[in-house]
Amino acid sequence: MKQTKISPRHPRAESLRIRERLIEGYKTGVVATAGLVAHGRGEAFDYLIGEETTSNALKAMKVAAAMLLAAKHPVISVNGNAAALVAEDVVKLTKEVKAKIEVNLFHRSLEREVAIAKLLRDAGAKEVLGVGEASSAKIREIASERRRVDPKGILIADAVLVPLEDGDRTEALVKMGKRVIAIDLNPLSRTAQFATLTIVDNIDRAMPTLTKIAAKLRTEDKKKLGRLAISFDNKENLREATKMINGRLAALAKKGTYLTILEESKT
Ligand code: ATP
Repeated sequence: MKQTKISPRHPRAESLRIRERLIEGYKTGVVATAGLVAHGRGEAFDYLIGEETTSNALKAMKVAAAMLLAAKHPVISVNGNAAALVAEDVVKLTKEVKAKIEVNLFHRSLEREVAIAKLLRDAGAKEVLGVGEASSAKIREIASERRRVDPKGILIADAVLVPLEDGDRTEALVKMGKRVIAIDLNPLSRTAQFATLTIVDNIDRAMPTLTKIAAKLRTEDKKKLGRLAISFDNKENLREATKMINGRLAALAKKGTYLTILEESKT
């Protein structure tokens, strides 16, 4: 597929590369139209956090890895955006923490479920739950079609990683007693607020880092991991993330501008 050429000198080169991958995902039927819009909301928050993984997000990732490793039935819930951006990292993480993968869409369509499952299988996944009739169980806490889950996956999961989820489903999963780990650039979203643990970071940066952390922690004693998993206070975590954005904006507000035109492009 023809890609737009992105200059490495562009201050947002990485962000533009991510956009290209989503557009490609949209063209192949993996990403929903609404997924493109949802990504834009995330991008705006990435500006605010400085487009890099914060120490706060790293702390959250360590506990998230412990939660997944300590769980009996960990599941990674995958939607179109997550599949288009980090399919390989999802597969790598499932291997480290022995989790299942379930396709779980906000805008359900069999074609998209099949396209996402194929992408995940091409990335090395042996099993992909939640496709079509496999989502035969219903979550009582949700009224719409979005309540459908796989009885072998999210229904029985005790820990669910939801990179990019909507607030209703996050709330429902938490009400069901599951530990919900969200990756969300927006600390103010309902997902971020309702989750047991929120990694405030771009999924594109967070997934590979989370996988590396899980690989380091996997040999630790299960009891120790269990203690680490319950040591987390998401209110404090989100307070820190919001304070960091606040501090960064205060510093930028003093400067007014923070980018300068490079010499060679002035002519
Ligand atoms: P909620 O229902 O949780 O309040 P929302 O209505 O904003 O959230 P959506 O529009 O479904 O939710 O999803 C967008 C969410 O995903 C936003 O919170 C956005 O910050 C986040 N998001 C989008 N792209 C990324 C990304 N690449 N990495 C991390 N988070 C992202």
